[in-house]
Amino acid sequence: MLLLKVKQMVVEYGEKLVEKGLVVATWGNISARNGEEEVFVITPSGMEYTKLEPEDIVEVDLDGKPLATGRKPSVETPVHAAIYRARPDVRAIVHTHSINASACAAARVEIPCIMEDMAAMVGGAVKVAKYAPSGSQELARNVVEALGDRNAVLLANHGVVAVGKNLEEAFKVSLVVEKSAEIFFKSKILGNPVSLTEGEVELIRNFYLNSYGQK
Ligand SMILES: [Zn+2]
Repeated sequence: MLLLKVKQMVVEYGEKLVEKGLVVATWGNISARNGEEEVFVITPSGMEYTKLEPEDIVEVDLDGKPLATGRKPSVETPVHAAIYRARPDVRAIVHTHSINASACAAARVEIPCIMEDMAAMVGGAVKVAKYAPSGSQELARNVVEALGDRNAVLLANHGVVAVGKNLEEAFKVSLVVEKSAEIFFKSKILGNPVSLTEGEVELIRNFYLNSYGQK
């Protein structure tokens, strides 16, 4: 994909994050791989999503180092870079501070795999990465470890990271995780939420990957 096109898409999805109430002010960040595997683009540090222009989006290498002079990349660039290094299948990452998922992150309680859409999109429960300060390499390592081969992870006392094969999917995962966290709380009022079994999750995930949607 052309560099400008991928930067434009990051700007568009930034607006969607604000529209869906997944972030407050300048918090959270979005990135996407550019055609070449060794490069990705990411939102700049501390700028409002609604004011971003494609030229504000920063191109960095897989160590998180900017490839040109310009804006400073997001403080969470090490987390994005570590995920891209560990997961060749991941082509886009959305990090939000959405309320219900963040509540789970604050309590350091994983979101069990209680809904079919969650099984399809995330591939299981959303685990909690061990706490480390924002922007640290330690946080990046903890996130990769807790993420494993799934598509979402909670950052203790911080927020959520959702990944996908493109921006559309990563964004959808962030919505499904937020919805699942809300359902998790509400179902606790009614009794004990029942997790799908490993076998059930696998069946749903495989169906989603191989047979769901239009060919
Ligand atoms: Zn954050």
